[in-house]
Amino acid sequence: MSVTYLFHNDEGQRGTWKQGDGYVQIVCPECGKVAILDHDIADDGTVTPSVVCPREGCDWHEMVILIGWQMPDVQVHINADKNLAPETAHALAELVKAAARAIENGTLDDEAHAS
Ligand SMILES: [Zn+2]
Repeated sequence: MSVTYLFHNDEGQRGTWKQGDGYVQIVCPECGKVAILDHDIADDGTVTPSVVCPREGCDWHEMVILIGWQMPDVQVHINADKNLAPETAHALAELVKAAARAIENGTLDDEAHAS
């Protein structure tokens, strides 16, 4: 079992999560099945326990981190036809988190004004 980073968008793409009215859903990166989480979600987006795809025959079972959990305005649109390599997903997740922090701290604005 490894860690899967799910990105936030509202379009139901594979490998993403979104928040509905009183629920959080994810879309299985393997098969595209929508799953409603009945899990604990920590402040940093870590989901416990691990998540199992509800579709019979799909063996996706991963530790999940919801990227942008604290900053749900940050949405990432990915190519739904491509499974991201774990390193790519990790790198992208770090970028999104850094961008979210910069927005939160106002440092993006500061840099924009400084230049
Ligand atoms: Zn699945």
